[in-house]
Amino acid sequence: MDNAIADPPGEAPTGTVFNIIRFSVQDGPGIRTTVFLKGCPLECAWCHNPEALSGGKELLFRPDRCIACGDCMDVCPRHAIVEKEGKYETRTELCARCGTCADACAADAREVIGRLMTVDEVTREVERDAPFYLESGGGVTFSGGEPLLQHRFLVLLLRSCVMRGFHTVVDTAGYASPDVLFRVAELTDLFLYDLKSVDEEIHRRFTGVSGALIRGNLERLASWGKKVVIRMPIVPGVNDSRSNIDAAGRFIASLGNVVQVQLLPYHTIGVAKYARLGVPYSLPAVQTPSSGYLNSIAEELLRFHPVVSIGG
Ligand code: SF4
Ligand code: SF4
Repeated sequence: MDNAIADPPGEAPTGTVFNIIRFSVQDGPGIRTTVFLKGCPLECAWCHNPEALSGGKELLFRPDRCIACGDCMDVCPRHAIVEKEGKYETRTELCARCGTCADACAADAREVIGRLMTVDEVTREVERDAPFYLESGGGVTFSGGEPLLQHRFLVLLLRSCVMRGFHTVVDTAGYASPDVLFRVAELTDLFLYDLKSVDEEIHRRFTGVSGALIRGNLERLASWGKKVVIRMPIVPGVNDSRSNIDAAGRFIASLGNVVQVQLLPYHTIGVAKYARLGVPYSLPAVQTPSSGYLNSIAEELLRFHPVVSIGG
C-alpha cells in the first residue's frame, strides 16, 4: 500500500463518542482501550447496542429506577417531560437531549448517550494506558456503532494513535465506500470484520442493507494485505443454516488475509435497552445457542480455516 495520506478536505475536529472502555481484552490483542463511535448504517435485528444506531445524542430512561419525584419535569427547559398517572414520560419530539434532566435525577434513571469529543480529548483518554499497551502487546480499538461512518474523525484519531506508536484495530461491519476504507486501512494494523451472512436475501432482510459492498470490501482488504479477524454472529434461525455456514467458510478461505474466525453467539444482554429507548425489539423469540451447538459450527468452519474460536 501507498503510505502517503492526504488530509481530507473540510476535516471535522470533533466526533460523537458513546463510550470509552479501558482495559478491554476482547477487542484485539493485549490490553486495549476501546473507543465506541456513535452511528451505524445497518439495522441488524439482533443489535445489542441500539443506543449506538443514531449518529446524534439519545436520552435513555430506566423506569425501574424512577422514584417518581418529578424533579426532571421541573428542570426540563423544553417542557418535554409530562406526568401521566404518576409516571414521568418524555415527549421525544420536544426533547433536545440537553441532559438537564439526567443531571437532576438523583435516582440515575435518566442518561444522555453520546458525547461530542475532540481528537485531543480522545487522545488524552487513550494515552492514559499507554504503558499497558506496551507491556501487553495491546493498543487502541475503534468500534461502534460503525466507526467508518464518522470516517474523517476516525482517520484523525487513527493518525494520532499511529504517531504515538499505538497498535490500532478497527472493529467494523465494512459498509463504507472503498475510498473511505482505503484511508482507514492505511492507518490500521488489524480489522475485526463482521460477516453476518453471505446470503444476500438474509443479509438484506436482517440488516437492512445489501452484503455486496461488505464482501467486496473484505476482498479489497485482502488485496491490500491487511490482517483481518472475521467475526460471525451466530443467530439461531437467521444465519446458522449449514448452507450459510459453508458458504461463509468458502468465502473466508478464498481471501488469504484472515488470521482468525470468531463465532459470536447471539445473546439477549442488550434487549432491555430497547425498552429504555422506547424502541421495539424484533427478535424476542430467539434463544442463545448452546456451547455444544456452537462447537459443531466451529468444527464445520475448521474445514475452511485453521483458527476458529468461540467468543471475541
Ligand atoms: S428525576 Fe428521575 S426519579 Fe425523579 S421522576 Fe424524573 S426520572 Fe424519575
Ligand atoms: S434531555 Fe433536556 S430536553 Fe430532553 S427531557 Fe431531558 S431536560 Fe428535557
